[in-house]
Amino acid sequence: MRTNVLVIGGGVGGLTVALKLAKCGIGVTVVEQSKGSVHLYKGELVQPKTLQIFDSIGLQSPVLKKGHVINDIDIVERKNRSAPIDDLPVQSMSYNVLPHPFHHALMIPHETLKNILLEEAMKYPSFQYIQPARFLGFSNGQGRVKIGKEEVLIHADYYISAEGRKSKVRDEMDLGKKEKKYDHHFLTVTFPRPPTLTEGKIISNNHTFLGLFPLPGEMVRSVYLIPKGSYKRMIEEGLEEFYKKYLELCPSLDGYVQQIDSWKKIQLMIPVHYHVNHYVKNNIVLLGDAAHSVHPMAGEGMNLAIQDADVLGELLCWMYEHNKHSNDFLLLYEKVRKPRVQHILKLSHLSALAYSRPLRSFVSWRNKVMEQLTSDPILHIKHMLNISGLGIWKESIIDRAIQTGVVPKRQEDEGFQLDKRHLFTEIEDYPWRGMKEETKG
Ligand SMILES: Cc1cc2nc3c(=O)[nH]c(=O)nc-3n(C[C@H](O)[C@H](O)[C@H](O)COP(=O)(O)OP(=O)(O)OC[C@H]3O[C@@H](n4cnc5c(N)ncnc54)[C@H](O)[C@@H]3O)c2cc1C
Repeated sequence: MRTNVLVIGGGVGGLTVALKLAKCGIGVTVVEQSKGSVHLYKGELVQPKTLQIFDSIGLQSPVLKKGHVINDIDIVERKNRSAPIDDLPVQSMSYNVLPHPFHHALMIPHETLKNILLEEAMKYPSFQYIQPARFLGFSNGQGRVKIGKEEVLIHADYYISAEGRKSKVRDEMDLGKKEKKYDHHFLTVTFPRPPTLTEGKIISNNHTFLGLFPLPGEMVRSVYLIPKGSYKRMIEEGLEEFYKKYLELCPSLDGYVQQIDSWKKIQLMIPVHYHVNHYVKNNIVLLGDAAHSVHPMAGEGMNLAIQDADVLGELLCWMYEHNKHSNDFLLLYEKVRKPRVQHILKLSHLSALAYSRPLRSFVSWRNKVMEQLTSDPILHIKHMLNISGLGIWKESIIDRAIQTGVVPKRQEDEGFQLDKRHLFTEIEDYPWRGMKEETKG
């Protein structure tokens, strides 16, 4: 079998890059090992840069229609168990500080998003989707894929590994990766929500935290931090104990969380953090979770995969259009994406540490840091910009000093604004477009 580009894995990253290539008329084949739609909780928070990408490929409207807009993520610390939750101070991280129109995030069920991408890609004749089809490895520079009982060799100009965390291609490429594990795991489950819960919410105490992210259809996706190794014991304790834990942090879930009627609906999520040293080797390219995995704290994994796919898709379209098939050009993808991913990985890791031992129990310290972050206008804008993916505005030593309360925070009325220089420009996203004709190869 022959194709221009073989995409291994039909997750959000694989489907996005395949759709972009199909739009350019490049022959693209996606092989996906699963038999059909799988019920597995995965990323559902779409950050502003990802919304911008959907807008650029004409998917903004269907995505918005099937999603729930998030403007704010409210942070509440329950230092004192007896204090009514409604009386506790709320610190709001607001996406609205970002420039219009990508000044909000969106929650959308993972499978719904994949279906939108797949349906759109199916409209293009150069797109081919084979499912179930399992990639087995490489043989003489061709991909070995098991389709039904048959083993097929697929020959492509480029191979994209978008197989997620357990990437076979990454292991074969032997690119090396540094991995970090955490002292905590998460439980995650979706259930009906009270109608008043319309924005994101993170409620924490000195043992744990509960993240609540509203989905369309009056549902809410929750993530609950548990100590590593406590999952089995919690199942033995039963659902009643599980409900109590949620209600202790968020009493308004009473009558809602109890609608989770089986442990089978609750998924264990084990955070890992890694980043491969290189994304490209010869004509093989890694993207998404195959290349990096981020702690789920910042809700970035799915976004990084789609943002990788956007840059790689644009680059390959350009390479085919201009007939520039050189490894030097392919490396531009890594050059754009790796430092951005590294920055997000660092931010998420730092947030994760705040909820790891021994810092987990320092509620007052964490509260102070969050208060400074949300009420200092520059810190707030920088944080929202950095997690949005729309740009990078690194924190300075003064910012750090303000965040920890060593230096007083800046005042709102000083008129601080997002400096446009910190937004990624088109040339920064796709630098090959700015290359002079003679340097193009
Ligand atoms: C439980 C859980 C919760 C998460 N929550 C969040 C969140 O709230 N926010 C967020 O942003 N991110 C979250 N993430 C991370 C996010 O889902 C991932 O970062 C994102 O899905 C990565 O996309 P991907 O396309 O790179 O990989 P995946 O989504 O993992 O897709 C890889 C695809 O490749 C297929 N595949 C694998 N091996 C082969 C093979 N050999 N042959 C053919 N096909 C193959 C798989 O079946 C799969 O469909 C979560 C992840 C998990 C596991």
